[in-house]
Amino acid sequence: MKQIPLLPLRGVLVYPQMMLHVDVGRERSIYAIEQAQEEGGFLFLATQKDTRDEDPTADELYEFGTFAVIEKMKKLPNGSYRVLIRGEARAKWSNYERVDLYPVVDLDIFEEPEEPTIEQEALMRQVRHYFDRYATSSRRVSKESKEVVEQIEEPGRLVDMIATHLPLRLSEKQELLAETDIEKRMMTIMKRLYSEHEVVAIEQKVSKRVKEAVEKTQKEYYLREQMKAIREELGDTDGKGSEIKSLRARQEKSGMPQHVTEAFERELRRYEAVPAASAESGVIRNYLEWLVDLPWSEATKDQLDLQRSEEILNRDHAGLDDVKERILEYLAVRQMTDTMRGPIICLAGPPGVGKTSLARSIADALGRRFVRISLGGVRDESEIRGHRRTYVGAMPGRIMQGMKKAGTTNPVFLLDEIDKMSNDFRGDPSSAMLEVLDPEQNHTFSDHYIEETYDLSNVFFLATANDISMIPGPLRDRMEVISLAGYTEVEKEAIASNHLVPKQLEEHGLNKSTVRFKEPVLQDIIRYYTREAGVRNLEREIANVCRKAAKQIAAGEKKTVTVSVNTLENLIGPRKYQHGEINETNEIGVVNGLAYTAAGGDILHAEVALSVGKGKIILTGKLGEVMQESAQTALSYVRSHAEELGIDPTFYETTDIHIHFPEGAVPKDGPSAGITIVTALVSALTKRPVKRNVGMTGEVTLRGKVLPIGGLKEKSLGAHRAGIDTIIMPKDNERHLDDIPDVVREKITYYPVTDVQEVLQLALEEK
Ligand code: ADP
Repeated sequence: MKQIPLLPLRGVLVYPQMMLHVDVGRERSIYAIEQAQEEGGFLFLATQKDTRDEDPTADELYEFGTFAVIEKMKKLPNGSYRVLIRGEARAKWSNYERVDLYPVVDLDIFEEPEEPTIEQEALMRQVRHYFDRYATSSRRVSKESKEVVEQIEEPGRLVDMIATHLPLRLSEKQELLAETDIEKRMMTIMKRLYSEHEVVAIEQKVSKRVKEAVEKTQKEYYLREQMKAIREELGDTDGKGSEIKSLRARQEKSGMPQHVTEAFERELRRYEAVPAASAESGVIRNYLEWLVDLPWSEATKDQLDLQRSEEILNRDHAGLDDVKERILEYLAVRQMTDTMRGPIICLAGPPGVGKTSLARSIADALGRRFVRISLGGVRDESEIRGHRRTYVGAMPGRIMQGMKKAGTTNPVFLLDEIDKMSNDFRGDPSSAMLEVLDPEQNHTFSDHYIEETYDLSNVFFLATANDISMIPGPLRDRMEVISLAGYTEVEKEAIASNHLVPKQLEEHGLNKSTVRFKEPVLQDIIRYYTREAGVRNLEREIANVCRKAAKQIAAGEKKTVTVSVNTLENLIGPRKYQHGEINETNEIGVVNGLAYTAAGGDILHAEVALSVGKGKIILTGKLGEVMQESAQTALSYVRSHAEELGIDPTFYETTDIHIHFPEGAVPKDGPSAGITIVTALVSALTKRPVKRNVGMTGEVTLRGKVLPIGGLKEKSLGAHRAGIDTIIMPKDNERHLDDIPDVVREKITYYPVTDVQEVLQLALEEK
């Protein structure tokens, strides 16, 4: 065809069989379409290579375009035309020429086959399949368009139609327009469909992720806002802002390690989130308080000066020279090795002998803080290690409580009455204790409540016990036991006048010139108002005296008070004890045994009474199992040795025997009363009186051998207190005589024995 008016298109392209609305405003173009309209409406559409070009020349137009027909034309008020054009066929132009104002071209028109070949049919199926997949996945193609595409029979038109539905660039569309080989065109569109499908899949994946992320933040935002609203409704608007601030400030000062800081932050966030009025809030708050209150880095500087330590120990305690010596040695070793490893000191002895106050002095000497926890009656592991926070009312264990009280990471930490810890079904506290005391483990001590590990390795642990045999073995192995046996009367007097009296005077707002203790009133208090190994009751009685004196002075009855032997009873009432428990005369069937109790040494009478009967044996005095067996053994010994002992061997056929230990309310047990019972039995059966000044201790075998006992030192002190001057003891205990204080040894004669016959000889009067 020749001389067809050419309409340049900007940014669009028309495929054959497609309709297009164009607004034509360029003057040249207006001429062109007016001309075309006159000549049957034929027109050639060629797309500009550059859309910005106002007046494109021939080489700025793509060489393939669309031969088209004007379907409708309408003049708009501004002089331009709105034209509806229908594409007819692909065409290639030549002989570009300008007639008047607009260009005309000659055209090569490419007709497309209406019926596909077999190959084309096959390809068409493929194309439809790919299009279908793309349409479904992209959701960009309407259902109607899909149906239209499905019904297209001509291969060329199919591709053209699909091309309008794909997001193609203009150059790509142009390429498809220029492709006159139908099969190639189908291959190209298929490739595009395939890659578009992939792109869509990836697009969808990405957008799904984006959507999820957006949804999540939106959801959180929404929930938070809701929570805020609820809180405001509930009236805690002011919330915990200031509390949180102060907690954080304390946390910053606490110097807590990284892992604890993390826990703190985590819990603080939780704390922020829960409403202030909830129970949960209180629980978390409590936990946070604990974290910031515990000492994590604060420490005192050690004063490592042995001379100063010695001065402090001497300042606070009279006597106890060997104990002080051992403490100083221990401190010296610690100073040399500069670590807290090594055994733990365990101060062992009866109540009131100064164990606690020694520990306090050690803290003083080292310049460390002092804390004390009592382990008496602790039977549950969680008392040491705390309860998990999930329990209602959970608390940290006593160790952490002690650390909080100390406020530093290196206090002197006294574990009082470690022997009174017991274990039962609720768990074994001693194994937790073991972990506390083990330098291999205690730098990461874990309390159930605190959860985060705590470093105990700088703590100076000390323990006290009344009876070291009650400490579980593994714990005892970790300890260096320092024994404090108890004081003699003389020592007590020195302690009283140098320490207890000044201390109590001060505590009651008195002084030496207002209240005077006149010799030998302290001795009287010791003898007749107390009966103990230590000085606790002594201190209490002195306090009692001070209180009464203070009252008299305050009431204006007197200006000064002199406490003397004569005024003592007026002040603090009648005497509580008899001094010297031994009998006035030598008696038959009564023997002074020596006992070792929690209160130190004491004397314990054994009494035997005989009556006419049939060999019945009665044991009274609240005896433990061991004592009962001792009594049986003693009796068997006497029966089997009756003849040697000068006793009628048939005595038990006609006699009932009653063995009694007075002070029936006090439980008694222990393996050291054997020879005492034998002596009492023989005395009763032979009617030979027992010397009243003799005390004895020792276990006996069926053959009459005397076995060793414990606590000779304490028993000696008790015997001395009671006025005994002769002690019969097992020979195997001879080496313990060195431990006995000189004042006592000078007053008492010791007879070490191996056989019960020796005992009888020493203790019984001749007939
Ligand atoms: P424990 O812990 O052994 O039961 P404490 O340490 O509580 O005994 O001592 C009881 C009281 O006796 C304290 O006031 C203590 O200062 C005093 N005390 C004990 N022994 C002595 C001593 N050797 N010198 C001075 N005071 C002492």
